Amino acid sequence: MVGTLHIIGGGMAGLAAAVEAAGTCKHIVLHESGNVCGGRARSYDDKHLGSYIDNGNHLFLSANKTIFRYLNLIGSVETLAGPKAPLFPFIDLREDVRWTLSLSQGKIPWWIFQPHRRVPDMRLSELRSLYKLFSATGQTTVTECLLSGSFSQRLLIPFSISVLNTPCETGSAALLGAVLRESLFRGGEACIPWFVSKGLSETFVTPALAYLRYMQAEVRLQSRITQLDVSKENFPYRRITALHTHHGHIPLTQDDQVILAVPAPIAKSLLGKHIPHLTVPTEFESILNVHFRLDTAPIPIGSLARCGFIGVIGGIAEWIFLRGHIISVTVSAANRFICKNPDDLMHKIWHDVRCACDAALSHPLPLYPAAQRMIWEKRATFAATPAQNHLRPGQTTLLTNLALAGDWVSTGLPATVEGAMRSGVQAVEILGLKRPTLH
Ligand SMILES: Cc1cc2nc3c(=O)[nH]c(=O)nc-3n(C[C@H](O)[C@H](O)[C@H](O)COP(=O)(O)OP(=O)(O)OC[C@H]3O[C@@H](n4cnc5c(N)ncnc54)[C@H](O)[C@@H]3O)c2cc1C
Repeated sequence: MVGTLHIIGGGMAGLAAAVEAAGTCKHIVLHESGNVCGGRARSYDDKHLGSYIDNGNHLFLSANKTIFRYLNLIGSVETLAGPKAPLFPFIDLREDVRWTLSLSQGKIPWWIFQPHRRVPDMRLSELRSLYKLFSATGQTTVTECLLSGSFSQRLLIPFSISVLNTPCETGSAALLGAVLRESLFRGGEACIPWFVSKGLSETFVTPALAYLRYMQAEVRLQSRITQLDVSKENFPYRRITALHTHHGHIPLTQDDQVILAVPAPIAKSLLGKHIPHLTVPTEFESILNVHFRLDTAPIPIGSLARCGFIGVIGGIAEWIFLRGHIISVTVSAANRFICKNPDDLMHKIWHDVRCACDAALSHPLPLYPAAQRMIWEKRATFAATPAQNHLRPGQTTLLTNLALAGDWVSTGLPATVEGAMRSGVQAVEILGLKRPTLH
């Protein structure tokens, strides 16, 4: 092996980089500051709830080709669950209207012409919003592209809030357009929803660590990198010469390389003095997840049984996932609720769950769940506004043996697992590493 590739950060970007680089000519060392990998996508045993849960529900689309490549490499694609068709059940709580968006499998959007497959009360003229989003650039916000009507209210707005994790009034239309171009524009085949069947760690982390062990890569937990040393030469010879940890420093040779896959503020603090002009996103949005445990696992019927989740419009809850005894609710762009009383919020969300699910379950839900857990991820993603998007740096730097990765670098996508993983794979390519072609 010729030198070592040090990957700093064991989230989705760092893991994807490690899996991609394993099998190349470099020895791989992954440094993770925490005692588990996974970063913002992880599972844990919640003592209070008495259940094993994810920090937050994650939904993916079949268009996410980097995620599927990763899952195929580590052998865990079978742990995903979903309807295996482009189906999205919804309820509008304000008018008690239910429907299942059922996209056509192929590229031609026949579903648009079939009222029972599309959004209720939508007008075909509203599809012009899509054209505006597809072609949006620069400073345009999502709201500026939306025509008023049911298609916006019942599909584009909830989709935008989930994808960007930012309110439509400030969200970047260009970033939403990029996701729509890779998904809706390519037809139903690219829009099949998937989520993990057991836990995020069982799908994304544990199999990856087993794969990395098999490939002789080293994973060092509780290995926080506290400082980077940089040589004095000028570009193109400036490079990282050592990594510092609490346990000592690691000198790097001429052949060693580094992928920095930590969150934006940490990347800035490690690199700021070496690359003063480095800009990174500085504003963040939170995601709220509430997990409710029931004494008896609810039995869903109809679309809820087929899909395992339902989208909610007109309440606080946005997506509800059923997983055995646990019902989990996601609320994106949740900064707007941070000042609310948590008990009131929980109460209202449980009310939304009962209104949305009761008619789709064999027995109605109890008045109160057996236990509940609220998880605020305060810095879930950077705020996907045009201004913050502009601050995202490229992946190469003035340091020749360094590449940046993470959902916050300039991938052209919002902060998602697909974006994070794509940046990890691209970082490996930028450093000139190539794994042997797989058949
Ligand atoms: C609640 C929630 C719901 C979400 N839902 C979705 C969804 O439905 N679909 C979707 O695609 N995306 C979703 N996302 C976004 C997705 O989880 C993130 O985009 C992705 O996980 C980011 O990965 P990352 O590797 O870039 O960063 P991180 O996950 O932040 O990983 C960075 C890692 O670096 C480590 N680290 C930090 N400092 C150091 C240091 N000094 N030395 C060593 N290691 C360090 C951290 O411990 C961490 O493990 C969601 C996020 C949240 C929080």
